[in-house]
Amino acid sequence: MRLSSPIDQALSLTTKQRQALKQAGIETVEDLLFRFPLRYEDDRPRRPDALTADGPAALYGILSGAPVLKYYAPKKSRLSARLEVDGVTLTVVWFNQPYLKDRLTPGTPLWVYGSYDVRRKTLVAQRTEVAPALVPEGLTPVYPAVAGLSPKTYRQFVERLINHPELTIEEILPASLIRRWRLLERKEAIRRMHAPQEARDVALAKRRLVYEELFLFQLKLMLLRRARRARASGVAKKIDAARLRTAVSALPFTLTAAQRRALEDILRDLSAPQAMYRLLQGDVGSGKTVVAALALYAAATAGYQGALMVPTEVLALQHARTLRRLLPLDVDIGLLTGRTPASARRALTERLADGRLDIVIGTHALLVEDVAFSRLGLVVIDEQHRFGVEQRRLLHEKGEGVDILLMTATPIPRTLAIALFGDLDVSTIDELPKGRGELETLWTTPSHFASVLALIERELEAGRQAYVIAPLIEASEKVDFENAMALYERLKAALPKRRVGLLHGRLPGKDKDAVMNDFVRGALDVLVSTTVVEVGVDVPNATVMVVYDADRFGLSTLHQLRGRVGRGAEKSYCILVSDARSEAARERLSTLRETRDGFVIAEKDLELRGPGDLFGIKQSGLPEFRLADLTSPHDRTILAYAHRDAADVARRILAGSPETTAPSGSEMLPADPSDAGDRSESLPAALLRLAAGLLRQPVAPD
Ligand code: ADP
Ligand code: MG
Repeated sequence: MRLSSPIDQALSLTTKQRQALKQAGIETVEDLLFRFPLRYEDDRPRRPDALTADGPAALYGILSGAPVLKYYAPKKSRLSARLEVDGVTLTVVWFNQPYLKDRLTPGTPLWVYGSYDVRRKTLVAQRTEVAPALVPEGLTPVYPAVAGLSPKTYRQFVERLINHPELTIEEILPASLIRRWRLLERKEAIRRMHAPQEARDVALAKRRLVYEELFLFQLKLMLLRRARRARASGVAKKIDAARLRTAVSALPFTLTAAQRRALEDILRDLSAPQAMYRLLQGDVGSGKTVVAALALYAAATAGYQGALMVPTEVLALQHARTLRRLLPLDVDIGLLTGRTPASARRALTERLADGRLDIVIGTHALLVEDVAFSRLGLVVIDEQHRFGVEQRRLLHEKGEGVDILLMTATPIPRTLAIALFGDLDVSTIDELPKGRGELETLWTTPSHFASVLALIERELEAGRQAYVIAPLIEASEKVDFENAMALYERLKAALPKRRVGLLHGRLPGKDKDAVMNDFVRGALDVLVSTTVVEVGVDVPNATVMVVYDADRFGLSTLHQLRGRVGRGAEKSYCILVSDARSEAARERLSTLRETRDGFVIAEKDLELRGPGDLFGIKQSGLPEFRLADLTSPHDRTILAYAHRDAADVARRILAGSPETTAPSGSEMLPADPSDAGDRSESLPAALLRLAAGLLRQPVAPD
């Protein structure tokens, strides 16, 4: 009997039981054995003097005195009995189990588990053993409920399975990894999950199974990526290196080392015959735009058109301006948004369709059917999380074998990025350009408005600009929010000679853009805004960011907001205004003060939020694991190791496959010679079967 055997081959089941299991999605031995307990109940009987707190407890004693049964409604009963434990008399109560009464004769030994109330010296029973042959000891697993089966019956199924003499559970991890990490064998780990003697058994079993889960997950992604690479044929672009070099040298700055590395990754992908599918992640202000611009330029020199899609009109305008400023004049750059006038739009779509236009920058407007390209070769999507899969696909399908570059400014902790983006290639810009001014982060209360104002005034006097962020546009009766409107009025009154603008979500789109553009052009000195300003805006002359009610924002949002300043050479200020004095608020401030590194902040954010508050992560499509919990730093550490090991094993699997001649095989995996493992070792058959299946599997494009 194997993991894949049908469940009723292993257990003799009634039709009803089989149906109940099937309803719960349990059809094979594996389905049952990999359905792990939610928690464990400690069945070791306690001494009365150890019962100092309310809560779950097991007792073992002798019944003293006759049980009393009362009905307080038809079919609602309460049975109570006295139990002597170590010379102390306690009360045990059973609800709606009248049939027990006859068995609870005085003098009988009783083991009972339930919820204990210290004050009443009473235990409300959940599980009962009258005159047990053995006093239950150790831990009892508690499983997610299965409709139609009692917890006890379900537990017995699991027990019968793990003790089944013919059960074989093949090891799937290479022996060298089991040795290296001192892991339990697969079968032993599964057994201990279901039948632990003590908490340590569960911890050891979990460690092994979490590692296995993350290792296999990573390995699958790597092999699938390999399979996709082999199939997703792209176009090898012949980039004009001389023109590209000229463009890079003509930039008003030198690329940072991290920008160079990212660009090299992209250029290599563009020149390769496989289609690129790469994520460019970089911290706020790390300069992703210029990397994207050069990639688009490179594609243009090879004779391919490129499209850069962004979520907002403001960003489209900003990027168009940036690209026109940074790239040589030998490429034509167009802008297409929802508000491009009809005549301009017609001219632009014509030039796109006949190939005269090299690069187009736009919003969702690019997705419209009549926007057609003559030779689309590269699609770049900025702030990729703001677009759905469908939208990305629509743009992608406007060409054949198109290369895709996704960009995100929301740093994902490295350990998580592995799990999230394991199926695409990732380039990370983890370095800010040199010459960035100092950025000071301050925390103050609303009562210090005057000093905040003084700082703003001083900066405006020096020719700089300021953002002031407020969370809501209308005062709510219940919550004492600063009100963007009131703040705007207040600042206007306090700064009569300055041009103050107001940006909020309820403004019609074109007014929003007008306000934003005024700020970008320098026609506004102060921009009062709700968080709509958060995404991607680049105004290096702005040196002050004031955030009201800062305690209401998560760390990552605060980091994004702060990232709007500190983009020039001048010293910048981020002033967090809040009267929250909580520990959490202080912790966030000190994190922001200590570091400007978005990756460190993202890691901390995850830690502070913890499990159950993973809205953002869930949204980003993080896979759900059976045992692993990626909000726990412990499991994320395991993920990092599992990733490295999986990369190594994938390399070994591919080294034995006929496709190894393709150079992309080794490229796709991080080389780590220090950790090559035992190469002569033969990999487990179960693992090789899994791999063979994955490499054969047809791969749907995404
Ligand atoms: P983000 O990664 O947040 O999108 P941007 O691409 O908007 O960052 O770049 C932030 C600012 O840094 C821009 O003003 C850009 O011109 C500038 N910049 C980009 N790369 C460099 C560099 N290597 N040296 C100096 N400034 C740079
Ligand atoms: Mg950007």
